[in-house]
Amino acid sequence: MAQLANRQILLHARPNGVPKPSDFRLEHASVPQPAEGQILLRTIYLSLDPYMRGRMNDGPSYATPVGLGEVMTGGTVSRVEASRHPAFKTGDLVAGMSGWQDYALSDGRDLTPLDGIPQPSLALSLFGMPGFTAYHGLLNIGQPQPGEMVVVAAATGAVGSVVGQIAKLKGARAIGIAGGADKCHYAVSVLGFDACIDHRAPDFAEQLAAVTPNGIDVYFENVGGAVFDAVLPRLTLGARVPVCGMIAHYNDTQLPPGPNRVPLLMRHILTQRLHVEGFIIFDHFTTGFADFLRDMGQWVKQGKVMMREEFIDGLEHAPKGLIDLLAGKNFGKVVVRVGTP
Ligand code: NDP
Repeated sequence: MAQLANRQILLHARPNGVPKPSDFRLEHASVPQPAEGQILLRTIYLSLDPYMRGRMNDGPSYATPVGLGEVMTGGTVSRVEASRHPAFKTGDLVAGMSGWQDYALSDGRDLTPLDGIPQPSLALSLFGMPGFTAYHGLLNIGQPQPGEMVVVAAATGAVGSVVGQIAKLKGARAIGIAGGADKCHYAVSVLGFDACIDHRAPDFAEQLAAVTPNGIDVYFENVGGAVFDAVLPRLTLGARVPVCGMIAHYNDTQLPPGPNRVPLLMRHILTQRLHVEGFIIFDHFTTGFADFLRDMGQWVKQGKVMMREEFIDGLEHAPKGLIDLLAGKNFGKVVVRVGTP
């Protein structure tokens, strides 16, 4: 039998600003062999997520950066190819963190079986990290009440689309913000948002004001930048702001030019008694993930929550996929098809 190769995408250089294809490199390594207590996994699906941009930087963060010459980190759905672990058998499908490569070893501690998940790739979105992010941030921090106004940007993406759908389930009004007419049309006609505004429109702030005449009670922050500027003056007394992501700034190399706007922000927080709370979802898996899976399972069965997926074929296209994701070229959850199930 021909020797199998393990294709790996490594971090080749640390990006300065927007990542380039040359910041990555593809190498062929040998397929590792499982020791006693280990499992050999073959990647079927690789998730691409905005946090990966942060892992390409050196310096202090909530997670260890990927080292130069190391395999890019990433959530995966894999097939068990060989097992020397009593809890896993060949052919099982599991969710884990194999990274950007065909094969990886695991001791099983980071693996989750895909029981009850209707389609394996959904373990990377609706039933995985992005879905849980939306659920935790909206329900535990945003706490939307019936009739309240919830606003979320990146509204057709993996997190934002779930935020809007759960907000509607809870009886709130949901306004999406997205890039372009197609995404906005989809947010309203398929995801069920009450309205969606294109953040690239020259009169974006005026349009947002028109659809939130009584202000915004919950702003689920995914992007920062000009979107936040338009939202801030519309936050109501006691509004909640789960701070989930700042994708408009992930490629920044320095603070934006202009006057110091911290006093304006702090004044709003003070006078409007805003509840602004950042969260990193990896802190919450041990406490809230089981409840999330139970609720999401019911909502999906009832047809109340769905996920649009955008598939990219071939591990070698993952770098372009991440670069495009950061530029807003994706439409739905980006999943790389690495191998056949
Ligand atoms: P998405 O699938 O939503 O993809 C990213 C989207 O961001 C793009 O499609 C684009 O949508 C939008 N975007 C990019 N640049 C800008 C910009 N300058 N201004 C406005 N919108 C922009 O990604 P995810 O759903 O996976 O992630 C959404 C956010 O949640 C990210 O900030 C991510 O880092 C964060 N996150 C945080 C977690 C946590 O633990 N705190 C966990 C998971 C995600 P459009 O074209 O519609 O503008």
